[in-house]
Amino acid sequence: MNNASLQERKVNAIARGQGNMAPVYVDRAQNAEIWDVEGNRHIDFGAGIAVVNTGHNHPKVKAAVQAQLERFTHTCVMVSPYESAVALAEKLNAAAPGNTPKKSIFVTTGAEAVENCVKIARAYTGRPGIIAFNGGFHGRTNMTMGLTGKVNPYKIGFGPFPSDIFHVPYPNEYLGITEEQALADLQMRFTCDIEPSRVAAIIIEPVQGEGGFYIASASFMQKLRALCDEHGILLIADEIQAGFARTGTMFCHEQAGIEADLMTAAKGIAGGFPIAAVVGKADIMDAPIPGGLGGTYGGSPVGCAAGLAVFDVIEEEGLCERANQVGARFVEHLKGLQADYPQIIGDIRNAGAMIAVEFVHDGDVSKPYPELAKNLSAKAAENGLVLLSCGIRGNVIRFLPALTIEMEIIDEGMEIFKRIFKEL
Ligand code: PLP
Repeated sequence: MNNASLQERKVNAIARGQGNMAPVYVDRAQNAEIWDVEGNRHIDFGAGIAVVNTGHNHPKVKAAVQAQLERFTHTCVMVSPYESAVALAEKLNAAAPGNTPKKSIFVTTGAEAVENCVKIARAYTGRPGIIAFNGGFHGRTNMTMGLTGKVNPYKIGFGPFPSDIFHVPYPNEYLGITEEQALADLQMRFTCDIEPSRVAAIIIEPVQGEGGFYIASASFMQKLRALCDEHGILLIADEIQAGFARTGTMFCHEQAGIEADLMTAAKGIAGGFPIAAVVGKADIMDAPIPGGLGGTYGGSPVGCAAGLAVFDVIEEEGLCERANQVGARFVEHLKGLQADYPQIIGDIRNAGAMIAVEFVHDGDVSKPYPELAKNLSAKAAENGLVLLSCGIRGNVIRFLPALTIEMEIIDEGMEIFKRIFKEL
């Protein structure tokens, strides 16, 4: 068994729609390192797309899962519930920003969490409309595709999408959209095609993930909160990529000093076990009638056991603080490279350990260089590095390492990154 033969089988067995990033087949993984089926070692700067924030195979998470597997794997939380689901909900409710009492529900994927936010917001407000942002990403189900602003590749060929969804600009200095302009645009829409009294919620990623790691400022988040309050609109924070210590706090919108009405949690929640949640203000969360929410696998006992262990590890190992240290180390390396290549490295930005480098032509942020990001991630796979690209303009490399990554591994991985960058 080798990477090439597995790739051949994959191409014949798995439909191309599920993507085909790097033909490197994993045998085992530990913290921020992966070994492929040929025994080659790879440094992982993606953490399964911001999922294993506590590192691959964390001993505490593994032990919690193993202990749960000895007891039972599934009963369905809606039929025969168990203590770990209650305990994980209590942890999430306590960790969600703000002081209003919270409640949670469990589902299986991030997209499902977003879908359920929409259901809950509509049930509570009795209004149909949902406002989302250009460049945003919320998942691949029909409703979440509708909410997603980034068209390529997520929406191509999949319409029609649900009605009553409106897209507005996300502040993005690289596209020349200031915070003031984004807010003015939203206000203007309220006077033309969006009737605010028919809007249930505004959904926002505090840091746009797939869109390119664009960071909404604290003041933008605060003004959005005020606008929602003015019109009785709920604010949904999509924390799926930015949550669980990734940006230096347990959840990112906490840094703006605001409280969302509803929040999604997935990815980093359980060290790789497919479980996700909606956490929100208790009275809002209780709007849907009993039985209206949930699903067969939502709140799997294995996921709950893993999730409780992840909460412990984040606290015990100080991973919020560590996210900032990890981010700073990446930025230091990238700034060094930028000093030598100012014409190509247009921007470096980070929110904790969500780190991005943007490639441009002629040092001009209005001239994206997407081919370089694409070639770099392909070349990285051949050189023992897992690297992810992203961005509405396709010109961003994003770094989403395990928050437990060793500093020497960052240095080693960044030396590989710099070498292949210089070779391209
Ligand atoms: N929302 C955001 C911000 C995401 O980053 C993602 C996944 O990348 C999703 C929603 C969808 O999550 P999932 O892929 O688990 O359905």
